Amino acid sequence: MSEPLDIVILGGGTAGWMTATALVSLVPPTRCRVRLVESEEIGIVGVGEATFPEIKYFNDAIGIDEAEMMRATNAAFKLGIEFVDWGFKGSRYIHPFGIHGPANMGHIFHHQWLRAQRMGLKSDIDEYSFAAQAARNCRFDFPETRRSTINSAYTYAYHFDARLYSLYMRHLAEPRGAVRTEGKVREVVQDPQSGDIRSLVLESGETISGDLFIDCSGFRSLLLGQTLGVGWEDWSKWLPCDRAFAVPSERDELSPYTRSTAMEAGWRWRIPLQHRTGNGYVFSSGFIDEDEAAASLLRSLDTRALSEPRLLKFQTGHRTVSWEKNCVAVGLASGFFEPLESTSIYLVQAAIMQLVPLLPAKSIDPRLRDEFNRLMDVQYERIRDFLILHYKLSTRDDAEIWRYCAAMEVPETLSRKIELFRHSAIIEEYKEGLFSLTSWLSVFIGQGLIPENYSPFADTMPEDKLIAQFDEFRTEIQERVEEMRRHDRFIDLYCSAEPPRAPVAAEALQ
Ligand SMILES: Cc1cc2nc3c(=O)[nH]c(=O)nc-3n(C[C@H](O)[C@H](O)[C@H](O)COP(=O)(O)OP(=O)(O)OC[C@H]3O[C@@H](n4cnc5c(N)ncnc54)[C@H](O)[C@@H]3O)c2cc1C
Repeated sequence: MSEPLDIVILGGGTAGWMTATALVSLVPPTRCRVRLVESEEIGIVGVGEATFPEIKYFNDAIGIDEAEMMRATNAAFKLGIEFVDWGFKGSRYIHPFGIHGPANMGHIFHHQWLRAQRMGLKSDIDEYSFAAQAARNCRFDFPETRRSTINSAYTYAYHFDARLYSLYMRHLAEPRGAVRTEGKVREVVQDPQSGDIRSLVLESGETISGDLFIDCSGFRSLLLGQTLGVGWEDWSKWLPCDRAFAVPSERDELSPYTRSTAMEAGWRWRIPLQHRTGNGYVFSSGFIDEDEAAASLLRSLDTRALSEPRLLKFQTGHRTVSWEKNCVAVGLASGFFEPLESTSIYLVQAAIMQLVPLLPAKSIDPRLRDEFNRLMDVQYERIRDFLILHYKLSTRDDAEIWRYCAAMEVPETLSRKIELFRHSAIIEEYKEGLFSLTSWLSVFIGQGLIPENYSPFADTMPEDKLIAQFDEFRTEIQERVEEMRRHDRFIDLYCSAEPPRAPVAAEALQ
């Protein structure tokens, strides 16, 4: 058998430690050896607090105990995202992590809802989403495993302290075989012929050689961007926010959803954790100055600020390829989207899970590299279009950023989706990349795009039966939600970070 692949990861933020943990957990040591270099002096971004449900698959795949992870990261559950003032000032909708309508009804539900609306039904589509209603009522329970029941048709993600999550990953990765080196990279040595990266030279003089280098160096993109010169595709004309102020505040109601409130030059997040509330204002420096943005954020807090706001600068876009020569970028080194749909940590996990089956031998087959780059391009493009959708569909005209976004031309891949839905309520589906039919539906309808037509299938049911079905369904959701535990109580029993104690088995909470 050939020698194992020597993998060197540069960076110990969320991306670096998630990559290290996954590699030592999913690939046998006979296939690869993992070394991670990080610099405490440089530090990490560490502000990612909201996640997408796919993170559960990642955690399960690497064998994480959920309650233990939640205790270690002060985590809470997340059933979706509430968008306030996005469609117009005063509007409110939830992008839930679960379907609208009964589990067995599939795509026909929203067509029937559109028909019922024309017949005079007044209820919002949110009222037919179990996850949205549980979120609004601050309730939580694990989804029922029998697929036919109303409380089976949802999933969940987490709010957690990203800094603690990367520490938690580190404590898994090291005992499983990842070797950490503290130090700052001074020089990157390349092969004079091929241009491949051969080694990293640290300020201490130590040289770390490898076969495959994973660039998790954050916005610096030290290996892929700076050393290999891979270009940057800028998407800021569609997603103009380029700054964020982040500030923690005292713990508030532990609502199981992220709140995103549209503001005068961007939007503001509110993320409840067990020990504090995370807040931030994502804004465009072209539409507001920094001092005003910081003051606006502080004015809007529901609880007392625990520190001064911290400024983070970014540009939306991605590297033209994520894998070049013998270097793969994961995390911020590969690209960045504002956290509107909590997609950065998802992109880290997507890159890792796509890399593992494509892991090369010591000599890299370019077909593996091409396939990885294709898959990452799809991931980036799907998220880009979905984020732009939120801005494009807003009908606000009270601030320059909203007028700019309403007037901007969007990518053809997105305008096609919008027009298809506008005309016939059909949502283009795809296999690769993020965002299901439910996600698209909730933003289309939530932001006020009501289609001109619905599917003729929806006409098969008699009118009175259709309305009765909606009433019944809404009542059933309300009844089931009322039976659930309050989210804060659920956290206390299952994974309270304070005081530390033995976890309650998930089954005991059923
Ligand atoms: C305002 C904002 C809000 C966000 N909110 C969310 C969210 O809600 N949800 C979400 O999923 N994501 C969010 N993110 C993104 C998330 O924070 C990052 O995707 C995630 O933390 C991954 O970061 P990273 O590991 O790629 O980079 P970093 O955390 O920057 O880590 C970089 C690492 O590289 C090391 N390094 C760099 N240069 C050198 C060198 N020369 N020598 C040695 N080591 C070096 C550093 O020491 C560090 O360990 C947000 C980001 C921002 C900016």
